[in-house]
Amino acid sequence: MSNLPYVVGNWKMNGTRALLTEARSIDRASGRYPKVQVALAPPFTLIHRLQEAVQNIGVGGQDCHAEESGAFTGDIAAPMLKDAGADFTIVGHSERRSMHGETDEMVKAKAESALAAGLTVIVCVGETEAERDAGQAETVVSGQVENSVPRSEDAPARLSVAYEPVWAIGTGRVPSVGDVAAMHRSIRAKLVEIYGDAGTEVRILYGGSVKAENAAELLGASEVGGALVGGASLSAESFIAIVGAASPDQQE
Ligand code: PEP
Repeated sequence: MSNLPYVVGNWKMNGTRALLTEARSIDRASGRYPKVQVALAPPFTLIHRLQEAVQNIGVGGQDCHAEESGAFTGDIAAPMLKDAGADFTIVGHSERRSMHGETDEMVKAKAESALAAGLTVIVCVGETEAERDAGQAETVVSGQVENSVPRSEDAPARLSVAYEPVWAIGTGRVPSVGDVAAMHRSIRAKLVEIYGDAGTEVRILYGGSVKAENAAELLGASEVGGALVGGASLSAESFIAIVGAASPDQQE
């Protein structure tokens, strides 16, 4: 996989066709930052239209089912995402884990299905506030990585891990840069334990209340290879400011 900084917007359950205007603006502005890989994960209903509307950015799903097809009312399979024009999918977002009871094993099966369908995949992990307060954050996240990441031979080249502390998502609270760096180093160590040297290729993104104001500091932390952005990805102005902060040109 590319080693450019990777900045991904997760639109969650937001957006109808009207929001394609923002996507077009994001796409145009992303052309100014060739050293950043930019992508959006809109709701399933917009994947096809968004993919047709953009040239410079990737388009992905926010989840997929582990099976390729079948009697799973309301679900979307990875080959369907691919067919709709997606090139990646997020799996294991904490909102899926907490609201839909997704376990590490389910997340891993989804990630493997995504890779088999020819998508790249972003596996999300992150501790709750209670787990951090109990001093368990690194143990919990390390366990999630161990049990959620796909194990196929090509996995490390097509995988990103997003570290998203649950208590930082949508709250405006962010961990200290030191805590982010420590967690990313711990995730890197686990990835190398799992994949050997190939574990150094996996990009580790930070997610949780990334905004234009804090992006440069968070993205500058050790082992942070990009950002997964929720709320701030719904407006081109705020999202592009984050893309700009990720650009190596801006940091020189
Ligand atoms: C997310 O849900 O992936 C996320 C990081 O959200 P926010 O940026 O709004 O905290």
